[in-house]
Amino acid sequence: MTNPDPTTQYPQPPFPRQPQDAPGSVNAMTPVPDHGEHSYQGTGRLAGRKALITGGDSGIGRAAAIAFAREGADVAINYLPAEESDAQEVVTLIRAAGRKAVALPGDITSETFCTQLVEQAVKELGGLDILVNNAGKQQFQENIADLTTEQFDLTFRTNVYAMFWITKAAMPHLKPGASIINTSSIQARKPSKNLLDYASTKAAIVAFTEALAQQVAPHGVRVNAVAPGPFWTPLQPSGGQPQDKVQTFGSDTPLGRPGQPAEIAPLYVFLASSESSYSTGGLFGSTGGTPLS
Ligand code: NAD
Ligand code: MG
Repeated sequence: MTNPDPTTQYPQPPFPRQPQDAPGSVNAMTPVPDHGEHSYQGTGRLAGRKALITGGDSGIGRAAAIAFAREGADVAINYLPAEESDAQEVVTLIRAAGRKAVALPGDITSETFCTQLVEQAVKELGGLDILVNNAGKQQFQENIADLTTEQFDLTFRTNVYAMFWITKAAMPHLKPGASIINTSSIQARKPSKNLLDYASTKAAIVAFTEALAQQVAPHGVRVNAVAPGPFWTPLQPSGGQPQDKVQTFGSDTPLGRPGQPAEIAPLYVFLASSESSYSTGGLFGSTGGTPLS
């Protein structure tokens, strides 16, 4: 079998313009993203683990949910109520892998909901070993004059405060060997001028990850962050980027195309599993070749 060429392995730009309202749906995208539905093969690396993934209905979170289930984990996913149909597709895929699926819709900009989310996940899964703080809000604004306090606040509540609230609620349930994975971004290191609020949250996630990793290491809990480059998910055409950037999405990376969610799921599996037992406080990139520093 020959190795696939990563430059041509998945769709390359140009892509059609395809505006949709946030939070968006994978089925409204052209081409439809690849979350590993037909390709991911597990090898029992997460057998018997229990995972909670925010933003697990679509994109990177969906790919992680499919991979975790096929590696033997039971998986709870959180998402917005408007995303129920994307979420139900993931529930079906988790069950098809022979694992328990728990669907927990709700808005993580509420601290009360975040606390209930963790309690419900723990109750229905019977514990918690893996927490993936992956939900995110990204809306571009070209000018600081157009960036409202409301948007700035909502971006921080979704990307930073919710991670804090969910992690705080989860910590008492996490035993030695547990793993927390926070989805940051290349934006933490190479911020775009039109993503002032979003890039700032992604840098905050890295600092939070590095600080918490040191704090909880003595308890045997690891905390790492993932820095995706451009990935083909609903986040981007639903206001994350202007439509002309959607058309050329990923073309400015050395590999010349966006990543597909299926291509980053193995990194989440690695960080969730004991294979990465000496990695904590790290920032792991999957950027198509753009340097992280
Ligand atoms: P996505 O749209 O598929 O996933 C984001 C999810 O966030 C949504 O599905 C939604 O369920 C959730 N969400 C947003 N607001 C919420 C709220 N108030 N309450 C509950 N859930 C909410 O897109 P994605 O690209 O897979 O995003 C996943 C993560 O990856 C995000 O943190 C994003 O910032 C990060 N990321 C994405 C890219 C990229 O190019 N796609 C690059 C770097 C980082
Ligand atoms: Mg979604």
